[in-house]
Amino acid sequence: MDNVDIQFDAKHIWHPYTSMSQPIPAYPIVEAHGAELIMADGKKLIDGMSSWWAAIHGYNHPVLNQAVTTQLAKMSHVMFGGITHPPAVNLCKQLVAITPEPLECVFLADSGSVAVEVALKMALQYWQAKGEKRQRILTLRHGYHGDTFGAMAVCDPDNSMHGLYKGYLPPHIFVEAPQCGFYDEWDSTDLHPLEVQLAENSDEIAAIILEPIVQGAGGMRIYHPEYLKGVRHLCDQYGLLLIADEIATGFGRTGKLFACQHADISPDIMCLGKALTGGYMTLSATLTTRHVAETISNGEAGCFMHGPTFMGNPLACAVADASLTLLLNSPWQETVADIEQQLKAELMPLISHPSVADVRILGAIGVIEMKQPVNTAALQKVFVENGVWVRPFGKLIYVMPPYIITPEQLSKVTNAMAKVLG
Ligand SMILES: *Cc1c(COP(=O)(O)O)cnc(C)c1O
Repeated sequence: MDNVDIQFDAKHIWHPYTSMSQPIPAYPIVEAHGAELIMADGKKLIDGMSSWWAAIHGYNHPVLNQAVTTQLAKMSHVMFGGITHPPAVNLCKQLVAITPEPLECVFLADSGSVAVEVALKMALQYWQAKGEKRQRILTLRHGYHGDTFGAMAVCDPDNSMHGLYKGYLPPHIFVEAPQCGFYDEWDSTDLHPLEVQLAENSDEIAAIILEPIVQGAGGMRIYHPEYLKGVRHLCDQYGLLLIADEIATGFGRTGKLFACQHADISPDIMCLGKALTGGYMTLSATLTTRHVAETISNGEAGCFMHGPTFMGNPLACAVADASLTLLLNSPWQETVADIEQQLKAELMPLISHPSVADVRILGAIGVIEMKQPVNTAALQKVFVENGVWVRPFGKLIYVMPPYIITPEQLSKVTNAMAKVLG
């Protein structure tokens, strides 16, 4: 069995949002197969997280492994400036075919946050090319769009790093998040805060960015499709670009291939990431319409001003292409619907627990919102003792398992969620 030097790790290696002086424990994982993570001591953990929305097909999938090794034997990387290659073309053909109709120009980047940076830059360059100075972005409270500066500036201003970087982030416009849940009766007053802002400030605004239907890391809130329809309508009315950040929601997670499809709308710009490569490696894509792409290209700069070193990485594109094919050739709608049914049956009853504020389910996403913030390290320890991998944060104990999880494995996950409530 592999040995993992946990002491070295704790002393020298940063982990996400973790103190270097008082790090919370990091568990040594040496292999992962299907829906299981294997610890250094051989203990198996059923995965409730898909490694943060990404590993939708589970780990060590033979088809995805093959896609990587086949590409590896040909070329792992080559610059994208002035060069193209089959993995990028094949992947982008699929992306153009499956995303909502007018999206047809694809920008490949390194991570979700960079895809958001690219989307924001596209919106700014679009207005610049039209000869209008519009540099403010409107977004929703409780949103999360990534950790780079442009993305941070459109994250929820209270529940994020705005305080820490005060004065360094461009001031954008925040409106109340929708209150109507996905299954609630629609109440059109939900759109009032947005309507008021647009009536006052629309001529400064370049774009609206939001996470369609599910606000992820900013609170795991699941809102009504009519809200999203209303936002699209208002963007059309005021001539604003709509940026849909589908980085978490894309590729079937909410029961539709893209969450925008719950509202039958298409954005002007769409960000994809996380599950794009089936969780194999980092890659993101920002898609836009011919109209936006041509407007930008006919502007003063004459091109879109972005070009990462590892743009269109062939290994990442090859595995993303294979992951998409695997997904589309699978009965993913039924699979996700089955997971949704089971999550509803097994988690909804927990709503009567005195410490639980709310339980929310959509597609292969299950959320328990507690009344008080939880102790992440303590709960994680109990999950591991119960053979399950779940990482709570804030008031949220939530899961988004790989689609290949079996009903028995999923029950083990939901049982452990019930158990940690005490
Ligand atoms: C995770 C996430 C991002 C950031 O993606 P990274 O790959 O972590 O940079 C942006 N938007 C949403 C909605 C996300 O869930």
